[in-house]
Amino acid sequence: MHDEPWFSNEQLATILKALPDPAFILTRSGRYAAIFGGSDSRYYHDGSVLIGKWISDVLSDEKTAWFMQEIGKALESRNLHVVEYGLSGQDVRGLPPGGPSSVIWFEGRVQALAFQVQGEDAVLWVASNITVRNDYEVRLRIQSETDPLTGLFNRRKLMEALSDQYEMFTRYGTPMSLLMFDIDDFKRVNDEYGHLNGDRAIQVAAEVCRSEFRSTDIPARFGGDEFVILMPHTDLAQAVPIAGRLRLRIAEALRLTGDLGEGATISGGLSQLLPMDVSCHEVLKRADDALYQAKRAGRNCIISQ
Ligand code: GH3
Ligand code: MG
Repeated sequence: MHDEPWFSNEQLATILKALPDPAFILTRSGRYAAIFGGSDSRYYHDGSVLIGKWISDVLSDEKTAWFMQEIGKALESRNLHVVEYGLSGQDVRGLPPGGPSSVIWFEGRVQALAFQVQGEDAVLWVASNITVRNDYEVRLRIQSETDPLTGLFNRRKLMEALSDQYEMFTRYGTPMSLLMFDIDDFKRVNDEYGHLNGDRAIQVAAEVCRSEFRSTDIPARFGGDEFVILMPHTDLAQAVPIAGRLRLRIAEALRLTGDLGEGATISGGLSQLLPMDVSCHEVLKRADDALYQAKRAGRNCIISQ
């Protein structure tokens, strides 16, 4: 026995229109055959102007190609096909240049329809605005990999990057040097000038790292007054003068801050990835040993090994 629907076609149209997320009927050739819903005006513009147009009328070549490809995938699989994508003003044709460049992020849930639309295969494409969630995820990721005092990468992110570099070295032989450095007699700096000035000294050292290194280098605060810098594509012979210059620049910057009397110096240990290394920890250990030797040798120097 088949129950008669309790709603009329007219009521069904009203219900579909009231759906908060927009649902597009897109044909294989990339035509907007119909649009339902999208009533949540916090997140969506009125899409009714799109009906009858082709995606290529509305979006840039690059985005059009992507949409066509995803429609094709959904039609092949017949299963629910889930995609994430960003759209900005530059992706939409006909908008004047210079508009906001912020990207709006969507999750698309795409399902092939079991019937043809205007003589073509077609999909139902439901777009949900996930910009807020996406921004939150990006913020959370940045926070989880950043040291709050200096804005440099933290130890966790450094270890991830080191592991990636080790992988590159074992696969392709790409060299990488690692410098570990530590502020000399930092306990005395804290004792004599106070913890806040101590914090400032750590920030100054971080600023010098940021300005001295190439954008492909990876400086991180390893903990306390200790820093680690990864120098990809740099062997030990190339890294030695870089580390020596950093030592002088940090001492100079700390002297010039004025709040720290004579300032402070750093000691460093330098090493590079070696073919016999069985893990990424070994280069870190060699640099740590070299740093220890630099301290034993009287501080304010860099030792390589
Ligand atoms: P050495 O030359 O052997 O490195 O001597 P040191 O006094 O610097 O000794 P060490 O590196 O072991 O001590 C680091 C000190 O840094 C200990 C700790 O009180 C201080 N410290 C760690 N983290 C912070 C921080 O975030 N801010 C400040 N102001 N001090 C910190
Ligand atoms: Mg120290």
